[in-house]
Amino acid sequence: MSERFDALIIGAGMSGMAASIRLAMYGQKVVVLERHLIPGGLNSYYQRGKRSFDVGLHALTNFVEKGQKGPLTKLMKQLRIPYEAFDLIPQKRSLIHFPSQKLGFTNEFEYFRSEVHQAFPNDTENFDRLIEKIRSFNETALTNEYLSAKLVVKQFIRDELLVEMIFAPLLIYGSAWENDMDFSQFVIMFKALYFEGFSRPRGGVRTIIDLLMKKMEEVGVDLRFKTGVAAIITGEGRVRGVETDKGDILECAKIYSSAGFGETLKMMTDEPSTQPRVGALSFTESLFCLDKKVRSTGFEDTIVFYNDSDKYHYQASAELYDPRSAVICVPNNYSQDDAQEEMVRVTYIANFAKWNELPRPQYKIEKEKMGQAAWNLVNQVVPNLNANILFQDLFTPTTVKKYTGHEGGAVYGSPDKTRSGQTGIEGLYIIGTDQGFLGIVGAMLSGISIANLYGLVGGDA
Ligand SMILES: Cc1cc2nc3c(=O)[nH]c(=O)nc-3n(C[C@H](O)[C@H](O)[C@H](O)COP(=O)(O)OP(=O)(O)OC[C@H]3O[C@@H](n4cnc5c(N)ncnc54)[C@H](O)[C@@H]3O)c2cc1C
Repeated sequence: MSERFDALIIGAGMSGMAASIRLAMYGQKVVVLERHLIPGGLNSYYQRGKRSFDVGLHALTNFVEKGQKGPLTKLMKQLRIPYEAFDLIPQKRSLIHFPSQKLGFTNEFEYFRSEVHQAFPNDTENFDRLIEKIRSFNETALTNEYLSAKLVVKQFIRDELLVEMIFAPLLIYGSAWENDMDFSQFVIMFKALYFEGFSRPRGGVRTIIDLLMKKMEEVGVDLRFKTGVAAIITGEGRVRGVETDKGDILECAKIYSSAGFGETLKMMTDEPSTQPRVGALSFTESLFCLDKKVRSTGFEDTIVFYNDSDKYHYQASAELYDPRSAVICVPNNYSQDDAQEEMVRVTYIANFAKWNELPRPQYKIEKEKMGQAAWNLVNQVVPNLNANILFQDLFTPTTVKKYTGHEGGAVYGSPDKTRSGQTGIEGLYIIGTDQGFLGIVGAMLSGISIANLYGLVGGDA
């Protein structure tokens, strides 16, 4: 006889872990199936020799101090994890770095506002009116229509350069659309980055993963690694269960999938009624361990959103990667630094198909060239660094696909989201990236909201 569960969750990434905790907390019999060996999904960790690395953690968005309201404290409350347990170190400052203008931002919004006022005196009132619009907008309403954020922002801001600069960090930290984003997503990201800001758990992403794993154990979640879902068994318009890669059948009342919208529908035994597009945006990541602290040169910024012209090109790269823009992150340049060794990370927008079609020896050569370009850029942005690389690691969009199953290595998933989480099949819901809340905080909130809505309150497709 096959096993039966109240809720089956596909994926032990941030959204899957958070959803499982909520459901099991209220007495449901919950199983999480994860194809890989470790939890964390897109934001996991790994070991190289004696060094351990986060896959990609630059920053946790939505920083608030203990006791303040915000998405971060909301998710801690929902998961019953105390604020102190995250052990957050706030950023000092980050920088939007265009050739003709630079704008800094900190975890105090007034700093960013004054930077904009100083650099763009003709747009001060317009910027303030935009802020009012953002403050009063309910970005998380699941019924919001999709709307071009560029169109809305351009109704307020006259200077094209300011529009490009405001958008650059928001796009690269959370848009599955090219060169634009949905206005609700824009507001989520604007608040997450400019109103609230960045922090980093002292122990990196491992801190968050360990907390979630401990909580899952406490509330009795059945977590199974090396257990991929091969098929979602549907019939008469509702879910029945899943078949695993090994051919086991598990029955369940509801499935919450973080595998991606299109990826989930493709697993259904019934023909899906829609086919979301594969996202075009993936990235390369280069990380360098150094023998010298970046801050010893006087450079104290945490994250630099670098762009080489007044126009920001957020689109699938025509070549293997697009050197015109990059995110440069110094993960130890937060307000406290107790790390032994320095690290710098560089992210480029990249083209999955081009990396994927390279024969093996060529792939290695191109990866090295990309790493060299990234290192040159670090030295351009941090003058007088004069550091030696002790260790470097590089990964490409094909690595993202390999470890997460996301088609096209699309870090932000499909441009076609399902904000309600519904799939047209009763009992089958999308959580995480393709529900539309992006990033680590967004993914956890997505898992929580969809679990609350369909698992605890009882709404349905
Ligand atoms: C390089 C990089 C850097 C990043 N940096 C940041 C950052 O600094 N700050 C930030 O907030 N966000 C960052 N992100 C984004 C963030 O990691 C993601 O938005 C978030 O983790 C997504 O979580 P998720 O639960 O939606 O999905 P995922 O993390 O993709 O989890 C899905 C899980 O499902 C599993 N799975 C898929 N298919 C199946 C199947 N058929 N059967 C079983 N299991 C399956 C996968 O193995 C995976 O573990 C970064 C991402 C990358 C790649």
